[in-house]
Parts: sequence; C-alpha cells; structure tokens
Amino acid sequence: MNKGKKLYEGKAKIIYSTNEKGLVIQHFKDDATAFNALKKANIEGKGVLNNRISEYLLNTLDQCGIPTHLVKRLNMREQLIRQAEIIPVEFVVRNIATGSLTKRLGISEGTILEKPLLEYYYKNDELGDPIISKEHIYSFEWAKKSEIETIDQMTMRINDILQGIFRGIGIKLVDFKIEYGRVWNKEKEINEIVLADEISPDTCRLWDIKTEKKLDKDRFRKDLGNIIEAYQEVARRLNIMPEETNISEVNFGKTIPLKFKKK
Ligand code: UDP
Repeated sequence: MNKGKKLYEGKAKIIYSTNEKGLVIQHFKDDATAFNALKKANIEGKGVLNNRISEYLLNTLDQCGIPTHLVKRLNMREQLIRQAEIIPVEFVVRNIATGSLTKRLGISEGTILEKPLLEYYYKNDELGDPIISKEHIYSFEWAKKSEIETIDQMTMRINDILQGIFRGIGIKLVDFKIEYGRVWNKEKEINEIVLADEISPDTCRLWDIKTEKKLDKDRFRKDLGNIIEAYQEVARRLNIMPEETNISEVNFGKTIPLKFKKK
C-alpha cells in the first residue's frame, strides 16, 4: 500500500490518499487549536499520543460492536482508515456540566447530569460550529432521520463503554465529541454509519477521579501547562505506554523513537 497525495488538511490531522480503493491515511499532527482556532500552538508529541490513544479506544469500541473507520495504526503518526463521507455534525455527550454548557445556560460547573446529555453542533469553522437541533439536521438534509436514530443509539452506547474504560483507570469522562461518516458496504449495497475521526484527550474532557486534575485539552485552553504529561498519563493508565518511557524527555519524530506496547 502506497501513500498518495494530501486530500484534506484540518486543524489537527491530515488525510492522504492511498492506492487502495476506499482506504485513506489519517495523519496526526502536533498542532493544537482552541476557541475556533484563535489560539494556536505546536505541542511536540501530541499527535503521537492521540494516534495511539485513539487507536486503542476505537479498537475497544469495535470489539464491543461499534463499527468504526479504523483499519489499523500504521506507525507513530498514521492510521489506515476507511474513507467515509463525514456527516457535518459534531455529536457532543456530556456527563458532567462544564465548558460551553455552563457558559451558555448558567448550569453550575461540575453538576453531575441525571442522564447523559447529547447535543448537536453544525461542523462549520466559519460559523464557529453553532449548536443545532435535530430538526436542523433533517431540514438541511445533513443526515437522514434513520441515520440520526442509529447514531443516537451508538453514541449513548459509546458513552457507556468509554465511561467504563476511564472509570477503571481512575478517570471521569466529563464530556466528549465524536463524528460519524458513511461508508459504502459492497455486499449489502447500503451506506453504513461508522464512527470516524478520533477519540483522544483533544476531544474528551477527562478528570482524575480523586484530584479532579484535568488530563485533556483544557490544559491548553486554560494555559494550565504540562499538556503532554497529562496525555502521557492517560496513555500510561490505559497501559498502552511502557512504564519506563518518559515522554517529556523524548524528542518526538526526530531522533529517539517511542516504542509502544504490542497488543
Ligand atoms: N469538542 C471538540 N471539538 C470541538 C468542540 C468541542 O472535541 O470543536 C469537545 C471538547 O473537547 C469537550 C466537548 O466536546 O470534550 C464539549 O465541548 P464544549 O462544547 O464544552 O466546548 P468548549 O467551547 O468549552 O471548548
């Protein structure tokens, strides 16, 4: 399999074509953005960690019956994925109130929600990803009713599975954002909904159970420092990073390769 030309470059990832039909390469960059890209930085090693963490989480979800776009991780920064037609909606699940929910509706920070709250945002950088209702999705034909019904169910199941994974390693899954795409199933001759994009500390809020220390992108948004150490902590607790590796001492992508445990 050969890597072809760049098809798309986003804020944190690049998609490349391959010579295999229906397969593309997803490359994880070190770039971080926040507040609709008003705040930008390059955080050395972030892409490597997100690649590995997202691979682990999507593989685990796949084993639990959630179809995903992931085929396999290729190397430190790249994954082979199924090319999907991305639905232009960000699906956000909240278990604890924080971030835009507290700002928009005045809900107290840290309120435990009685049941998970699912929100929809229109994926459009120029408009700043505005919050929308299901009716907007149907009115503007961003997805069909049957697709959203499937996605809603899958999303709630993903929340249950991820909450279990993180609780088991002493982390509260506060909220997260996921995306879905359509992939053509040749045998069934239908479009299948698959979980796409990534699930990582860039797209989740993760708080240590005991100390409530933030182990996610809020460290960047709020200038809390030690971003890589926090992402590394998540990988270490997931047991996907060798104990002896200290990422803060590793020069990513340059001379010293970081080895991850084989599954
Ligand atoms: N999120 C994301 N990408 C976005 C917007 C949100 O990954 O473009 C994630 C974010 O990391 C958090 C959840 O979605 O885990 C809810 O984010 P919120 O709406 O509170 O966003 P804020 O405006 O506070 O970043």
